[in-house]
Amino acid sequence: MKRDGHTHTEFCPHGSGEEVELFILKAIELGFTDYSITEHTPLPKGFKDQASGEEDAIITAGMNAGDVDYYLKKMHQLKKKYAKEINIHVGFEVDYITGFEDYTTDFLNEYGKLIDDSILSLHFLQGAGGYRVIDYSPEDYQNGMIHHYGTFQKAQEKYFQTLLQLVDADLGIYKPKRVGHITLCQKFQTFYKDEETHLSAESIVLIDNLLEKVKKNGYELDFNTAGMFKPYCGEPYPPLQIMKKVKEREIPFIYGSDSHHVTDVGRGYQAFKTL
Ligand code: ZN
Ligand code: FE
Repeated sequence: MKRDGHTHTEFCPHGSGEEVELFILKAIELGFTDYSITEHTPLPKGFKDQASGEEDAIITAGMNAGDVDYYLKKMHQLKKKYAKEINIHVGFEVDYITGFEDYTTDFLNEYGKLIDDSILSLHFLQGAGGYRVIDYSPEDYQNGMIHHYGTFQKAQEKYFQTLLQLVDADLGIYKPKRVGHITLCQKFQTFYKDEETHLSAESIVLIDNLLEKVKKNGYELDFNTAGMFKPYCGEPYPPLQIMKKVKEREIPFIYGSDSHHVTDVGRGYQAFKTL
């Protein structure tokens, strides 16, 4: 089995716009046997009014609410079309947003029967002026998060604290079993020259607690190689120092390319193989 558990499509407003069928053909060419299509869920109604920072960051974060039915229909059709070549798993990368648990639960209950595989990810945190998306740009992160919490590492700790809430959250029977890119807060780590950006001692404690909870709940992790290719990150989410702990605890982890372009499919698979 060769599996990519985290990929995007033309329905992603911050993706390349290339047809998902081209991603699938690339995965087949690379010998993948399993391929999960996990588009970003739409943001809750009214969320924009409670968010702050770069407007583009917010409006391009998830798929359009009006596209969900068409998205699912199209992905299930492609799953059938390519069933002889590859096992396609249709689903979502679901956003966990504190305070919007009811919306997320309703969404999952509405579409759960059509979901084969899904990821629960944290991209939004409370920051300057309201909710902020954390992975848009180093400048937006600095203004919205680092300045708000005081230091890079304080913002980092907020990320792991919120991941603990994510794992505990009751989102109903369709809650995803896999936690997305658990160190996304490190995406711009080498950009800030006068900040300590390595994982703080407090963050390591929080991560240990997180891994305990993940293990206890029978969840799994997204081993997401996208960070290796981000100019200010240079390591997977999570990095090898954390993967050591993941393996010690025998927590299942699934390779995810987090492809937003056809050329991303399969990237960093070697790093996964050598773990
Ligand atoms: Zn995305
Ligand atoms: Fe994500």
